[in-house]
Amino acid sequence: MDFDSAYRMTIGGELIESDRRIQVINPANGQVFAEAPNCSVAELDRAVSEARSAFPAWRNTPISERQRLIAAAADLLEAHAADLGRLFTREQGRPVEGAIAEVGIGVAWLRAYAAMQPPVHRVDSGDGQIIETRYVPLGVVGAISPWNFPVNLSIWKIAPALLAGNTIVLKPSPFAPLCMLKIGELLNSVFPPGVLNIITGDDDLGPLMTAHHGFAKISFTGSTATGKKVMEAASKDLKRVTLELGGNDAAIVLPDADVDEVAARIFYGAFFNSAQICIATKRLYIHEDIYDRMRDKLLEIARATKVGDGSEQGTDLGPIQNRRQFERVTELIEDARASGLVLLEGSAVPQQGYFVPVTLVDNPPENSRVVREEAFGPVLPLLRFSDIEDVIARANDSEYGLAGAVWSSDIEKAKDVARHLETGTVWINSNLMLRPDVPFAGHKQSGFGVENGIEGLLEYMAPQAVYFPAPQ
Ligand code: NAD
Repeated sequence: MDFDSAYRMTIGGELIESDRRIQVINPANGQVFAEAPNCSVAELDRAVSEARSAFPAWRNTPISERQRLIAAAADLLEAHAADLGRLFTREQGRPVEGAIAEVGIGVAWLRAYAAMQPPVHRVDSGDGQIIETRYVPLGVVGAISPWNFPVNLSIWKIAPALLAGNTIVLKPSPFAPLCMLKIGELLNSVFPPGVLNIITGDDDLGPLMTAHHGFAKISFTGSTATGKKVMEAASKDLKRVTLELGGNDAAIVLPDADVDEVAARIFYGAFFNSAQICIATKRLYIHEDIYDRMRDKLLEIARATKVGDGSEQGTDLGPIQNRRQFERVTELIEDARASGLVLLEGSAVPQQGYFVPVTLVDNPPENSRVVREEAFGPVLPLLRFSDIEDVIARANDSEYGLAGAVWSSDIEKAKDVARHLETGTVWINSNLMLRPDVPFAGHKQSGFGVENGIEGLLEYMAPQAVYFPAPQ
């Protein structure tokens, strides 16, 4: 299969060009390098209709067969991980090694779901009735994913939706649509026509999907602002929704943390994927006893980090993925500079393309924009603290509640701090770890519903209680 051209949608088992196109830019140089289909209203209608037609047979396919096909999808993706990885770097910007790893994580998720199944709960009423509650699929799922992890976050939706017995129409971000188009083409040889449909289009396509009456559910990953629009649109016909949204994650470094040992890991948790991660550390609270040493160590790492074209050997961090995000991050840094905050910059970055240097902000006020807002780019405020109750209150003082981290050489003390954080995930002495068998749920305005684990699978199903007389 050719991964360098002919990017087409998969609708009802057919590859569709579409009359209109969107342009895809390589963020390392700002140049258009490919085009993707711009799905029309008629093509969206057709995708939903094909998914609806495929639903009864897929729902009635034994779960063991659905599991087998999901496992086969994993094998096929794994066999093409290197091709997909190279394409990923061109459209998303991340260095090739991390790009291939993203495909590998998608493979792991498919395999984990291929081994799962929904539970059946049985209740004996004690007076002659047995009640079995099983879980049934919803229908056609509309899935919408962002550009920062375009493969993983799409597969996080495809795997549980299909295992549950739903059919799906998935739309990746217009900024990074190509890998998912090629994955749709690849998996066309695995799933029956209409079960997995991949469509791409401009900014109008998401709202068309959330307004479409053919979907039983919308599964969305993206910003909190867009998530609210999705929920509002879905409310019109009470579509089910799962929303995985933004975050402004705090990490707290207690005074007994070993600076030399943990600094590189904290840096990774804040800056991997050029900090374009919902669960990246976005506010770093450091105890005053070790603040200066930690700041200096992080700056040393930033200066040794090579930011550049992800297709070049030795690049650690790639560009910001798109111009809109580049302008947003640049504006946030300029605002911090204009406010007189102290900015500490890492190594120099290329002039062409959407590059931003790793930027540490030295103890800005708690109410500054760079602390309050989700940067989603390589600018990290370092915040000094002395009192543990005070720092917990500061960490929790956010509309977001996605994840958080505590760093300490005393695990029990760290667990005690972790228990007070108002987030869906907390790491102790680690970060960025998620698993397909563990629920991932944003608290507060970071989300609605759950992805991953059995809980994530059940988001694509509805309970059905069957009452029947107990055998005599
Ligand atoms: P975004 O909200 O701009 O776009 C996400 C997707 O929604 C894209 O496919 C886009 O085309 C589509 N879309 C845009 N407007 C829409 C509308 N009105 N209705 C329906 N769909 C619409 O987000 P982004 O800039 O692509 O991604 C960055 C954001 O995503 C950050 O806030 C980040 O924290 C968040 N994110 C969250 C998670 C998580 O799991 N919680 C994971 C990754 C990213």
